[in-house]
Amino acid sequence: MKKYNFNAGPSMLPREVIENTAKQILDFNGSGLSLMEISHRAPDFKPVVDEAVSLIKELLDIPEGYSVIFLGGGASLQFMQIPANFLLKKAGYVNSGTWAKKAMKEAKHFGEVVEVASSADDNYTHLPEIKDIPSDLDYLHICTNNTIFGTELRKDLDAPVPLIADMSSDIMSRPVDVSKYTAIYAGAQKNMAMAGVTVIIVKDDMLGKAPRELPTMIDYRTHVEKGSMFNTPPVVPIYSLLETMRWCKAQGGVKEMDRRAHERARILYDEIDRNKLFRGTVEESSRSLMNICFVMNDEYKDLEKPFLEFATSRGMVGVKGHRSVGGFRASCYNAQTIEGVNALVQAMKDFEKEH
Ligand code: PMP
Repeated sequence: MKKYNFNAGPSMLPREVIENTAKQILDFNGSGLSLMEISHRAPDFKPVVDEAVSLIKELLDIPEGYSVIFLGGGASLQFMQIPANFLLKKAGYVNSGTWAKKAMKEAKHFGEVVEVASSADDNYTHLPEIKDIPSDLDYLHICTNNTIFGTELRKDLDAPVPLIADMSSDIMSRPVDVSKYTAIYAGAQKNMAMAGVTVIIVKDDMLGKAPRELPTMIDYRTHVEKGSMFNTPPVVPIYSLLETMRWCKAQGGVKEMDRRAHERARILYDEIDRNKLFRGTVEESSRSLMNICFVMNDEYKDLEKPFLEFATSRGMVGVKGHRSVGGFRASCYNAQTIEGVNALVQAMKDFEKEH
């Protein structure tokens, strides 16, 4: 049976990315060796990193003066690496969900942390209103897409202080004005690659100001200077990232990704709003185009498990909501197809007819 993958991450990748990566795993560039067996310093691998970096720069229209680096450790490592490099005295954090909160917790190891805005009291069902940003912050940290709660800030904030964003779950899904940011980071396992690599876009002239001795691996300058080759990088994930960036460009780039994201989300939210069984969990103006969260209406609560079983029987995977929210979550990253979204909508309609 055909599967429709709505996993929140690691998540669906374009078929050709998987096939092309698989080919290189069997035989890297006709070398007779697997991509899994080569040295990251093999002459054929540097062009992989170089092309991946240059495609990211091209697709996001990254201005001069920024570096793109690939690290391990996930976005979770960035929760501490960002403050280690940029927190001098005091940083501001927008508490928009679980991941933002985790980032804030790690920053407290390095200095004073101010919660500039929060929607915790409303169980993160909307984006916090960001106003009155103190002007003495070393930076303001935001999470542009809240993967668990399904809220998204789909525009670039004007901040009076350096802006740093966790874009793990919506990077490459829209054009971004990178010049507004000091750093952008993303665990790549949603819109960019298989799991195992983290992408960091960093403004070069903001580095080297931290008033602390940084361990070599934690200092971004190490990785900028060595072109992400200070230590052994995650070779296969980086290759899959290159293939995904080639795919993204061939499809029309981030503008086209943005158009598709709007189209998919409109189809799904329209059905959630129409169908008597379901309701969205997020205020309309904060709704994410990437992670579409919904629950059973109260009078149909008992149908939650049966609907999941019904959807599973139709080939849907990963539609169960995060354990901290319950209900359902359909993740619609770049590789998600209209066909997949229509299949889910049809399942919702057919299930409604039965009840
Ligand atoms: N930030 C966001 C917005 C995420 O969605 C996730 C993971 N789903 C993380 C951070 C943590 O990423 P990682 O698992 O790569 O550490």
